[in-house]
Amino acid sequence: MEKAKVYFTNLRTKGEESLLQKLERLMKKAGFEEIDFKDKFVAVKIHFGEPGNLAYLRPNWARTVCDYIKKLGGKPFLTDCNTLYVGGRKNAIDHLDSAYVNGYNPLATGVQTIIADGLRGLDERELPVPGGTYCKTAKIGSALAEADIVISMSHVKGHVSAGFGGVLKNIGMGGGSRSGKQAMHSDGTPRVIEERCVGCRTCEKNCAHEGIKVVDRKARINEDKCLGCGRCIAVCPKDAIQTKWDSGKEALSCKIAEYTWAIINGKPNFHIAFVMDVSPDCDCDGQNDLPIVPDVGIFAGFDPVAVDQACADAVNAQSINEGSVLGDILRDSRKRAERQKMIDDKDVFRMLHPNTAWAAGLEHGEKLGMGTREYELITMN
Ligand code: SF4
Ligand code: SF4
Repeated sequence: MEKAKVYFTNLRTKGEESLLQKLERLMKKAGFEEIDFKDKFVAVKIHFGEPGNLAYLRPNWARTVCDYIKKLGGKPFLTDCNTLYVGGRKNAIDHLDSAYVNGYNPLATGVQTIIADGLRGLDERELPVPGGTYCKTAKIGSALAEADIVISMSHVKGHVSAGFGGVLKNIGMGGGSRSGKQAMHSDGTPRVIEERCVGCRTCEKNCAHEGIKVVDRKARINEDKCLGCGRCIAVCPKDAIQTKWDSGKEALSCKIAEYTWAIINGKPNFHIAFVMDVSPDCDCDGQNDLPIVPDVGIFAGFDPVAVDQACADAVNAQSINEGSVLGDILRDSRKRAERQKMIDDKDVFRMLHPNTAWAAGLEHGEKLGMGTREYELITMN
């Protein structure tokens, strides 16, 4: 496969041009206007952020993208699906409330927000996964599945289950209905490292499925109920819960790639990724820790695999923010020893989340024919 073109600009501004205008210029340079938007329903897949989180993308970016689509004749809407875990985005009402709290309302963005899988997360379409090995079909939120065109806006950051949160994670995992998310997660139930567990019950309170309970001051997973969503891993203050099977982490990343492929296959699609406020964990968390690296810029292109690879490479090329959790990890001799391979590989995301396999998803995306990890980076000043 020929190298994909990925367009990049940094966050410097000169003269009168704002960063929002620079974003539109980047999209234009990357070929955005090649898409025929006339009278088409355009799903702009984004993450509205959990209330309390401040690392999610500002609605101003979304307005710029949606205004541009409208200028080209399309009918854009902002969309995401409900989450599996307890939080502010588990059903469409809470999800819209959370989006509003974080500034995503029609006055700010100029467009409507549609929660793609409906009130309870049950409104889905089962789409084929061409060439899929883990999933033959993918359960996708209806509004996303029915859109004529898919545009993704992804905030690049770490992720507790996927390792790297970029374009594939945004579209594939985010676009799955609640049942689709279960199907993606179900290969990887976590395990409790008893000696680290202090019995605080944070995991129990945050599990929406009664998948974990504290008994005799130690958390225990109920294999029959646990869906492997990873929420307890994220909230445990003692790092006492970890992904259990090595195959689970690769399967998860590959399934995310397959879900992405189901959503974009056969449709015009375009991807914008923002490497800024690179928090160690997802915007699904109700807080965001200090960024692990400095802000880098914005990437755009037609190939989701190439855009993800370019973003990951850019993050891995940065110096680590010594004051961040990644700095803490590298100063901790036990954690440092556990992560020596990831340090040697300069894989920031696996240094943070060692039991993940984000690169397997990009490799799998290549095998599916969704894109390529080989890219030419074209920098725009
Ligand atoms: S116990 Fe299972 S279902 Fe419950 S939060 Fe943990 S991973 Fe998710
Ligand atoms: S959150 Fe962690 S430390 Fe607290 S009970 Fe659960 S496993 Fe144990």
